[in-house]
Parts: sequence; C-alpha cells; structure tokens
Amino acid sequence: MTNTLIVGNWKMNNAVPESLMLVAGLEAHIKQSPNVDVVVAPTFTSLYSVGIAIADSGIKLAAQDIFWEEKGAYTGEISGTFLKDVGCEYVIIGHSERRKYFGEINETVNKKIYAALRNALIPIVCVGETLAEREGGKTFDVLEKQVKSAVAGFQPKDFEHFAVAYEPVWAIGTGKNATEEQIEESHKFIRNMLAKLYDAPTANNIQLLYGGSVKASNCKDIYKQPNVNGLLVGGASLDAKGFADIVAQAPGQK
Ligand code: PEP
Repeated sequence: MTNTLIVGNWKMNNAVPESLMLVAGLEAHIKQSPNVDVVVAPTFTSLYSVGIAIADSGIKLAAQDIFWEEKGAYTGEISGTFLKDVGCEYVIIGHSERRKYFGEINETVNKKIYAALRNALIPIVCVGETLAEREGGKTFDVLEKQVKSAVAGFQPKDFEHFAVAYEPVWAIGTGKNATEEQIEESHKFIRNMLAKLYDAPTANNIQLLYGGSVKASNCKDIYKQPNVNGLLVGGASLDAKGFADIVAQAPGQK
C-alpha cells in the first residue's frame, strides 16, 4: 500500500517573496491527511526560505533537479548534499523540460538517481513520449527505454522510496491532458515492466504519478485509475486554492 503523492512543480516561477506567499496560502487551504503526501518544488533560490516556512506544516520540499557529484568544480550545479542541507526530501529528475532545453539524457538521469539515493532524497523520475513518438506508435518503446536506463544498476532495496512520473510531453503545459485510458495503459505498462525487471512487491511499492495539464476540474477521474498513485502538477500548483482543491480530491492509500 502506498500513499497518494501530489507534487507541485513551480518550475522557474516565484522569487522568495512570492514563494512564501504561495506556501502561506497552501498552509491555509490544505487539509493534511496521513495517507496523502503533499510536496512543493520551488526554484533553487527559494528552497531554503520555503523549507523553513513549511517546517511544521506537513508539506514537504523537493528540488527540481540535482547534480550527480557531491562538490567541486562544477559551476552552476547543485548537489544532493546541498539539497539535503536546505531540507529537501524529494527531487524531480529528468523532467522533459530539462531533456528538451538542457541536454538531459537517460544516462544522466540514471546518474542523478544514484546521487539522490546516496543522499536519502526520494527521486521523482519523469518519463514520457513526445507527440511524434505517440503518433508514430512508439510510446511503449520510449517508456521502456527511459525507465530501463533510469533504473539500470539498482536493486529492489533502492525502490523503498521511489516515484516515477508519467508525463506525456504533449500534455505538459498545453492544456491537453491524456485520457484516463492512455494514462492507465502507460502506468500499467511501466508497473508491469518494473515487476518483470524486479518483482511485483517492488513494482507495487513505487509511486506512479501522472503529470500533464492536471487541474482541480480533471484530477478526479485520473486519481481513479488503478495504477495512478498521485500527480505531478505544474501550472495549477501556482495557485494555492487550485492546488489545495487537487489535494482535497486525492484518495488515500492504493
Ligand atoms: C510539469 O511541469 O511536470 C507539468 C505536468 O506541468 P503542467 O501541469 O503545467 O502541464
């Protein structure tokens, strides 16, 4: 049985003052439940202040990326040690925007997951096909390649705290979310693949999130899908009431 996990990815939005206003709104509107984990992922520069602000709220902190080394001459990068230091418990890895704009590839995703686990950070690993790949009938091939190379070299014990987010690239920030059938089919495919690579209990313990234009008005039917354990929310997580409404509709454990 896993908790429902709902992650708000703020992307490159909100300087420190706006970040603090947003978390104050979240604290006012979100009712905590022991079976639902709520996580926010602000920009790197807001992590420290947000971490302090949410310390007693039950809301948890995620970073939007991580570098695979711990320290040294890597200008502009942030390591797991530093993320842990400012209170992060989760880290988003391999988001399609990082793959598209910053040269993230399956091999670097794998290295970043190692770095996350080494620092006891829970990875939220993003996978998903482009529109051309879906239309070319390649969705499952893409998912298989992305998931297999992400988890290469890991053992069942590494998946005790682990999330995979299925985010069809064509649904991110476009207002076009995948149908419930498309979501469940992809989640089931990923779950079965992980069960084949490891074993069923390991695969069932991994939280499978859906992301792509989720909002309060469309989340209910997505939550109902048997292999959906939560959501990764971009745009709609920037509005406290809207995000709280998504959290309020979340089922407990699955
Ligand atoms: C995301 O950034 O992971 C995302 C799913 O964005 P949006 O909800 O805006 O589509």
